[in-house]
Amino acid sequence: MDLGLKGRGVIVAASSEGIGRAAAEAFAREGAQVAMCARTEQTLLEAAEQIRSETGAEIYAHAVDVTDAGAVQKFVEQAAKQFGRVDVCVANAGGPPAKNFLSITTDEWRKALDQNFMSVVHLAKAAIPYMQRHRWGRIITITSVTVKQPLADLILSNAVRAAVVGLIKSISNEFGKDGILANNVAPGFTTTERLKELAGTRALAAGVPAEKIYEQWAAETPVKRLAEPKEVADAILWLASERASYITGQTVLVDGGIYRGL
Ligand code: NAD
Repeated sequence: MDLGLKGRGVIVAASSEGIGRAAAEAFAREGAQVAMCARTEQTLLEAAEQIRSETGAEIYAHAVDVTDAGAVQKFVEQAAKQFGRVDVCVANAGGPPAKNFLSITTDEWRKALDQNFMSVVHLAKAAIPYMQRHRWGRIITITSVTVKQPLADLILSNAVRAAVVGLIKSISNEFGKDGILANNVAPGFTTTERLKELAGTRALAAGVPAEKIYEQWAAETPVKRLAEPKEVADAILWLASERASYITGQTVLVDGGIYRGL
């Protein structure tokens, strides 16, 4: 299936590891030009170099904290300058800590909002004007299954990511006339560093080894296993492609069926 992504200018934020990295690699394999960012320069440059050498794609990598509006703006401008266009913007960041409501400080609420909501605002605001120039664009956010099914100790994620869904719906309404589609991808349990961190927190609270937590998650999931980052990346790739040209304002769950609702 031709996804029509060859030669597209693609931004994948927070892409030195995990789902973001898998998405950057998947776009590179399709022949897109990919701009990658993350906070830590060394891991980012290593990831970029590996993808470049394996795919031969043009990769622009720059250390950026996605909570910094000015730095995001410059990063997107530089990608546009280098590629001559910005067609796709995948908004991603690390996840907020697992905590119960009364233990979350005001600073932690602000940090989660900055990291998981305002980062989407910064990225979309910087990328949309470039998409309008060519009357074609894709904004894709990475949130979580918590947007459909809140999880007990993930209060910050449950609350903040719901705002991202509202934002994506609003962007899809406002910019559909410009050929820009906006969708949200909501992963379930996916084998990354983030999941390791969550397993560690839960294992500590329950007094069991982390492996037990992984086993539990797999057992609770209808497909009886966790996702590989690549499986989430493939859904992102498809939403960005010509093959998903009439889909906008939606949340696509990539969760192995763990969301039990209709
Ligand atoms: P990860 O921790 O493996 O990778 C996160 C990436 O984001 C890294 O490259 C990191 O350097 C980068 N990053 C973090 N904060 C940043 C910032 N402020 N600025 C720039 N880069 C930053 O995480 P992941 O598992 O790939 O998760 C990606 C997103 O998906 C997160 O929001 C996570 O909460 C969410 N999610 C993950 C899972 C899962 O099971 N892994 C499930 C549901 C939702």
